[in-house]
Amino acid sequence: MASNEPGQPPLTTTTWTLDLPVPRSALAIGAHPDDVEFGCGGTLAKWAAQGCIVHHLICTDGSKGTWNPDADTAQLVAIRQVEQRAAAKELGATGEVVFLGHVDGELDSPLAVRGEVARWIRILQPEVVLGHDPWKRYRLHPDHRHAGLLACEGIVASRDPHFFKEHGLAPHRPNALLLWEADEPDHAEDVSAFVSTKLRALEAHASQFESTMKARDDSQLAAFRDRVRSRLAQHGARFDVEAAEIFKRIPDL
Ligand SMILES: [Zn+2]
Repeated sequence: MASNEPGQPPLTTTTWTLDLPVPRSALAIGAHPDDVEFGCGGTLAKWAAQGCIVHHLICTDGSKGTWNPDADTAQLVAIRQVEQRAAAKELGATGEVVFLGHVDGELDSPLAVRGEVARWIRILQPEVVLGHDPWKRYRLHPDHRHAGLLACEGIVASRDPHFFKEHGLAPHRPNALLLWEADEPDHAEDVSAFVSTKLRALEAHASQFESTMKARDDSQLAAFRDRVRSRLAQHGARFDVEAAEIFKRIPDL
């Protein structure tokens, strides 16, 4: 009698979906340069190959992305912008790459920053928005949590006409939100044909080889590629496809 006893929450089963219709435009919102490629690079590459205009919005400047205590962080910020643009190009993205420029590690999600995100949603008018799941349990990095909240709350502010009227922009309501690193994933995108593209885009973030990808030499880089491939394969197995990225899908916006 594990289920449906009085006073017990009902046991839920997840109903998974596979592959959204390819949107005409998509906006991926990441905390740092490289988060978008980790979270949804294969999906964006697949959509871009079918004509979707893919935009990036990066909330922080990536200035903490090094283990070298003597690093010139202003130079690192500039390098990471170049890398992010190169990664977007590898994905086939033809849209904007926007940097909000908040200090890495200090991102917050107050009304003013929510307004910045809502403004870009209104300008870019994406059919689908993708972002971090802000409700992922036991997540330590505050930027990922806040970037996720900004994506969710930015959509609410963007869609309703009385929010941020000072933008002077028409409201915009996306059709769907996909959250990566999801606490309760229920949607997969088949990226079988785009694993190499995702890897090339990830490897455009060369400044992160040491700290994020643990790839200080060729054999460690090969191990990193294997880890990415095997995770995608694991997610694909549910649908008998070679590789998949998984998300929490929020369709009613
Ligand atoms: Zn990150």
